Amino acid sequence: MKIILLGAPGAGKGTQARKIMELLSIPQVSTGDMLREAKAKGTALGLEAGRSMAKGELVPDAVVVGIVSERLKAPDMAKGFILDGFPRTLAQAKALHEMGVAIDLVLNIVVDADEIVERLTGRLTCGKCGAMYHRTFMVPKKEGTCDSCGGGLVQRADDNEATVRNRLEVYKQQTMPLVEYYGRFGSVKEVNGTGKTPEAVFNAVKGLLGS
Ligand code: ADP
Ligand code: ZN
Repeated sequence: MKIILLGAPGAGKGTQARKIMELLSIPQVSTGDMLREAKAKGTALGLEAGRSMAKGELVPDAVVVGIVSERLKAPDMAKGFILDGFPRTLAQAKALHEMGVAIDLVLNIVVDADEIVERLTGRLTCGKCGAMYHRTFMVPKKEGTCDSCGGGLVQRADDNEATVRNRLEVYKQQTMPLVEYYGRFGSVKEVNGTGKTPEAVFNAVKGLLGS
């Protein structure tokens, strides 16, 4: 099963991707995670990507397409995968098509803009395992510490209000057209995420996956 997750930043793509990964035993491919890793390693590409990310702008298509096409060649991709955060522009969707990748399902997670801003500006991420928490909606048992692995919780550099507003604008302009693009192939299914817990959203997702 080859799945694309669409949705605004903060819609819960990463959270659902992890749950689908466990359910179907197929890997999650998160371009955001891959770019943050490259930045942490301090490669030239990573540092350049970091500058775009800090402003809430997209990293150039050529860079992201290069990273994804390398990743998709790995043997663990053969059974299927979940693309989380890619494609994000029409050019990226076309590049994916040209790689010969046939997508089975596009899940579009829809959440109100106001809720998105609340979610992202309060979001805390485990620096070690990537688990997600929230200052008011999903408080960890011990302040600043990940419940599942004990790692330290940090706020992502791009989860401040100004950058979040810009990311939402970029999403509207550049990524929303993909819903229509994939809609033409009849492969888009919508999931309502507004006011929903991750578990409630996952129940809907499971229904759409037929499992
Ligand atoms: P979110 O979905 O919450 O914005 P991500 O971790 O998916 O978080 O992405 C963080 C940032 O990484 C984006 O704002 C963008 O700068 C960059 N990025 C991730 N995926 C892509 C992509 N496919 N194309 C261009 N830039 C990307
Ligand atoms: Zn953790």
